[in-house]
Amino acid sequence: MVGKILISACLAGLPVRYNGSAKPLIHDAVERWKAEGRLVTLCPELAGGFQVPRPPAEIENGLDGDDVLDGRARVLEISGGDVSAAYIDGARIALDVARENDCRHALLIDGSPSCGSGFVYDGSFSGKKHAGQGVTAALLRRNGIAVYSDREVDQLVDAIG
Ligand code: SF4
Repeated sequence: MVGKILISACLAGLPVRYNGSAKPLIHDAVERWKAEGRLVTLCPELAGGFQVPRPPAEIENGLDGDDVLDGRARVLEISGGDVSAAYIDGARIALDVARENDCRHALLIDGSPSCGSGFVYDGSFSGKKHAGQGVTAALLRRNGIAVYSDREVDQLVDAIG
């Protein structure tokens, strides 16, 4: 069976980032998966109820998405507003969509408090990053979905063709 891939909407070229931009991923494999109808496009933050544009947000205190899911950390907007619940809602919807489409793999943009899979920013809004994952990546991984970052397309090709 040909596997489907959950992909961050901004990587798929949709202008859904907090600042209204996209980060399209140019790669032959992504074009092929698109032509084969294997991409399932989703923005967890829009699914969680946010709009475009929206304030930037980071996970507090150098923690990550696992800590948010377990109640040890919050996702805070730059103003200090606690938006953790909406981030968790968006992660749950992403998991539901992945399951409905039988996605065993996800290709998510790194660094985001939702989609990051290798690093996230530390909550100081100063550009400092650390190893960790966003809320959606953490929930997908807890439920057996393999998450790859935008720097790992070749590894995803090796895994699923
Ligand atoms: Fe892109 Fe994910 Fe942020 Fe949506 S939540 S804009 S898909 S990185």
